[in-house]
Amino acid sequence: MRVTTAFWRLLRLEGVWVRAVVFDADRVVVRVALRRRRLICPLCIYCTTASEGVQAHDSVWRHLDLGTWRLEIRARLRQLRCPEHGVHVEAVPFARHRAGLTRDLDDLVAWLATKADKTTISRLVCVDWQTVGRVIARVCDEQLDERRLDDLFDIGIDEVAWRGGHRYLTLVTDHRRGKIVWGAEGRNAAVADRFFADLDPPARDEPATAIADIAEPDDDDQPHVGPRAARLEAISLDMGPGYARSARRHAPQAVICIDPYHVVALVNRALDEVRRSYWNALRDSDDPTAAKRFKDARWALLKNPEDHTSKQAATLRRLRRAGGDVWRAYTLKEALRAIFERCLSSIDAAVLIERFCSRAARSRLRPFVRLGQTIRKHAQGILAAIGTGINNARVEALNNKARLITRRAYGFHSATAALALIHLTCGPITLTLPHEQIV
Ligand SMILES: [Zn+2]
Repeated sequence: MRVTTAFWRLLRLEGVWVRAVVFDADRVVVRVALRRRRLICPLCIYCTTASEGVQAHDSVWRHLDLGTWRLEIRARLRQLRCPEHGVHVEAVPFARHRAGLTRDLDDLVAWLATKADKTTISRLVCVDWQTVGRVIARVCDEQLDERRLDDLFDIGIDEVAWRGGHRYLTLVTDHRRGKIVWGAEGRNAAVADRFFADLDPPARDEPATAIADIAEPDDDDQPHVGPRAARLEAISLDMGPGYARSARRHAPQAVICIDPYHVVALVNRALDEVRRSYWNALRDSDDPTAAKRFKDARWALLKNPEDHTSKQAATLRRLRRAGGDVWRAYTLKEALRAIFERCLSSIDAAVLIERFCSRAARSRLRPFVRLGQTIRKHAQGILAAIGTGINNARVEALNNKARLITRRAYGFHSATAALALIHLTCGPITLTLPHEQIV
């Protein structure tokens, strides 16, 4: 068998002939030529037989390694003139537009990015993290189906901190399918407005009133409710005003719910505030060892009692005996958490939430007095969440997963790459490895 034929069978590159194989010191270079005569625009489906000339230099792609050899594909491509996109180098079937890696290597890197950390991927495939970012951005761009925004009924709009809390992403979850279906950088009403604009883009021949409506919200205007937004039944949110304003405007028929885990996060924060001020008071007192002993109490207080280690359980018993502000704050926290743990009817939950708010108001603990007021203000939304039966545990699990992924995306410079990683991991995309695509 000739070496070119052997490599043609080995590489499984779509639509090419292998013309030559050269072994360099550190890599194998395989020169290929496209089999098709027609030239295809890399940005659309336009194809032609008219060539505008040939590239002055080779295009180069890296392919899956051959054993320990780095494998390079080279080809001299032609140029075409697309009526819509102008002059471009023709598309190749084995690599995505503007990619330095073949489609197979792209797919491998994208799959790895959803499973492994930065160091593992960089060392295994010998690509830097920014390249990984570009790979996942183009794989996501290709795989993300526009139809994922069809049939949305119960959604959640939530923010997630990115790059150590310096930047934020807004994520939209489809609660019924348990997938993240949309994301963008930022965390205010304008970002939520952009989601609704993507949900119901104006038809091409429609005047731009809908867009103007979205770009400059004016409460006096009649809100524009698109057909897909009109089908939304429930939208779950945090307690900030931004998303709520956008949701009420673009889907006024949908019930606004407050995700219970946001409420639990708030009560944990209030408890931590009480703990911290008690700790500071201890440190300033005559007995500094007491402060040291108390320092370990943080996790004992914040963790659910059923997840306690025996040491944490002992700490909690000690706190109980000591009583005081911290113990009162802890019992308040547990009382609120219990409301969401049980499958209560909205009526029972309403009674318990009201009882909690009164207890908080009388607690003489400032963080809890404030918390009680916030909860009372949002009681309707919290009860709506209980009433709609959106599975809070599942929502929270997906949210935690998205947070974990976002932390891994820390090193990406662009929000596009961070969002791509979230979509590939928590979105409606199934990645396949090169060997799984062979039929
Ligand atoms: Zn084109």
